[in-house]
Amino acid sequence: MSLRVGIGQDVHKLVTGRPLYLGGVLIPHHKGAEAHSDGDTLIHALCDALLGAAALGDIGQHFPDTDPAYKGIDSKILLSRTLSLIRAQNFEPVNIDVVICLQTPKIAPFIPQMRATLAQILEIPLDAVSVKATTTESLGFVGREEGVAVYVVCLIMTL
Ligand code: MG
Repeated sequence: MSLRVGIGQDVHKLVTGRPLYLGGVLIPHHKGAEAHSDGDTLIHALCDALLGAAALGDIGQHFPDTDPAYKGIDSKILLSRTLSLIRAQNFEPVNIDVVICLQTPKIAPFIPQMRATLAQILEIPLDAVSVKATTTESLGFVGREEGVAVYVVCLIMTL
């Protein structure tokens, strides 16, 4: 068995009149991510972590935001396709650990649904999916509620 670690990070600007999707879950809020896709910052960072672990480049390379095919796309589809890409290299995800940096709203009530959604797509156990959320104590662009940042590490393995 061989193990690989990957890291991913994504940031989206928060603007009024857009939905806020994180981890495949729609979170009621007056602002959402400005994006070509549905703006699911968590899933984008997760795709980058998985691709990174397999040294397969990044999400922009596989799903370019200049391609009309990806306009408004459900990021869960991108995650599914990313899983196919790493599986094509004989990798399987082992576990993921996610940190969401967001000032408001409170994310805690949505974490169980995010974990369940991600575990189902990645076909890994619920206890292999960790999602944590933190504010930045009102500091920086996250603290000013101008954006959301997400960091992900993952482990993948070959059988
Ligand atoms: Mg993104």
